[in-house]
Amino acid sequence: MPSILVTGGAGYIGSHTVVELFRADYKPVIIDNFSNSEKSVLKGIEAITGETISLYAGDCNDEQFVKHVFESEPEITGCIHFAAYKAVGESVEKPVQYYKNNINSLLELLSAMLKFNIKNLVFSSSCTVYGQPDDLPVTESSPVKKAESPYGNTKQICEEIIKDTVDATGKIKAVSLRYFNPVGAHPTSQIGELPIGTPNNLIPFLTQTVAGIREELIIFGDDYNTPDGTCVRDYIHVVDLAKAHVKALDYLEKEKNDSVYQVFNVGTGNGHTVLDVIKTFELATGEKVKYRIGIRRPGDIEKVWANADKIYEELNWKAERTLKQALYDAWNWQKVLKSRGK
Ligand code: UDP
Repeated sequence: MPSILVTGGAGYIGSHTVVELFRADYKPVIIDNFSNSEKSVLKGIEAITGETISLYAGDCNDEQFVKHVFESEPEITGCIHFAAYKAVGESVEKPVQYYKNNINSLLELLSAMLKFNIKNLVFSSSCTVYGQPDDLPVTESSPVKKAESPYGNTKQICEEIIKDTVDATGKIKAVSLRYFNPVGAHPTSQIGELPIGTPNNLIPFLTQTVAGIREELIIFGDDYNTPDGTCVRDYIHVVDLAKAHVKALDYLEKEKNDSVYQVFNVGTGNGHTVLDVIKTFELATGEKVKYRIGIRRPGDIEKVWANADKIYEELNWKAERTLKQALYDAWNWQKVLKSRGK
């Protein structure tokens, strides 16, 4: 049973991926510095899987710490690198912090992988690399646009760093997964998103509004060139997204070519407007969403959704859960958070 290092394994997507790794008979080893997650997440994972977590609490930017983890876990054959800052708005205010953390942690990880001869890397990238695409849906060969934020730029730079390292060394096989909009929570309601402060993302803001924590949901503009005027996104259930990481690892574990680098879109292939999301939420939960139309949010992309054929054809992965299921799971998770006083 190969061990897989999961940096940021206590985070939103990381924790769901750890569950799926156990299910697929990998042994996940988590690194997390808990800068944007909580120890309680580990209990949630253990409750779902019945497994005991191997955790190293620390920072991927710390060379000695990463070395210590690899020395202590000689069974590691691959890494999934989630650990990064992820707030777009904050990255605009604190670019140095974002570049330093997101890029340096990848560099430390790659150095350690080369030193310890660890071959496989799955990197957590984002559809933000496409900006507002000229043609929809976006494929992996759609042009990468100039990033709108330091956060988006760190994803582009990290992808380039990985590609250069694969090409130059021939010792690392890597996959970058370009996520569309991850939503939902584990259907057991043991783990889910843990937004700190006021959420920026649509779904946590929506569920907090319905839970009475926020006054109302503001829809950021209804004058876009879309079916109902609100922005279109490709919302992917976080459990489906987690499973895509396992498929990527399976592929890398089997791949004989020692210097392969592949990029995959991870989305459903369907676009939904903000109003669609609200209607679907109401249908899934029987709850009413209090909302009003506000002004556009600066920097928002009008519409983007994935062409997800490549990952289906090459990794045999496709999204299996609907938006309705994702919203139902997100609402149940919100109720758990509320019962915990969060
Ligand atoms: N959105 C909104 N109100 C909110 C938060 C988000 O109308 O309070 C919209 C936003 O304009 C976008 C969609 O919901 O069209 C998804 O936004 P999110 O921030 O979740 O993801 P991203 O913009 O990064 O795709």
